[in-house]
Amino acid sequence: MANTIAQNIADVEQRIGRACQEAGRAREEVTLIAVSKTKPVSCLEEAYACGCRDFGENKVQELTEKYEILPKDIRWHMIGHLQRNKVKYLIGKVFLIHSVDSLRLAEEISKESAKKNVTTSILVEVNVAGEESKFGIRTKEEALALVEGIASLPCIRIEGLMTIAPYVENPEENRRYFQMLKQLSVDIMHKNIDNVCMDVLSMGMTGDYEVAVSEGAVYVRVGTGIFGERDYTVSV
Ligand SMILES: *Cc1c(COP(=O)(O)O)cnc(C)c1O
Repeated sequence: MANTIAQNIADVEQRIGRACQEAGRAREEVTLIAVSKTKPVSCLEEAYACGCRDFGENKVQELTEKYEILPKDIRWHMIGHLQRNKVKYLIGKVFLIHSVDSLRLAEEISKESAKKNVTTSILVEVNVAGEESKFGIRTKEEALALVEGIASLPCIRIEGLMTIAPYVENPEENRRYFQMLKQLSVDIMHKNIDNVCMDVLSMGMTGDYEVAVSEGAVYVRVGTGIFGERDYTVSV
């Protein structure tokens, strides 16, 4: 029989704790995001009962539907590719948008946030491995230019960087990508751009979150490791 969500969370928690300890980091420096895309509300409630308050979704409609139903102390993370015409539905509900990869998208977030009189926190998504199939900024120069562009917009705050590392058998293969993201955040920080904070690194998924923690992840995004395999054939 498959493990329960509670057992999975206990296991992930233990591994994060161990990775923090080995890296000389405090456990509080790392936040576990339960990636609940495609999963029914009952699964999120189970995770919530175990203490999870950070949930990650990759579709706007699914996030907002679950937002309406579930307790209001949940911090919702938008981790998927975001279309500009959907931004308005997210603003005021989302805690952090991890997937900003263009100035036009940032401008839309800024505009909609101003309308609702809120400031929206975002991360810039960087495709450090340069994979063709993935979204995100490819080069350091592009990342810097985007950060500088976003910094001048009102009602949007850059907190750091996010990356989706390649799918690999051996998580050690992704260590260099996590190091590259960290280095890029340090380089950007040293530019001392007004209104730019580089405290957050969102990196590490089910297959490689322990390596990501050892390289400085602030958010790890774990789906399969908590909820089990996703079934894309059923609609939620
Ligand atoms: C689905 C997804 C995850 C979680 O992936 P798992 O391998 O199931 O842990 C993390 N980050 C992003 C951006 C995702 O889309």
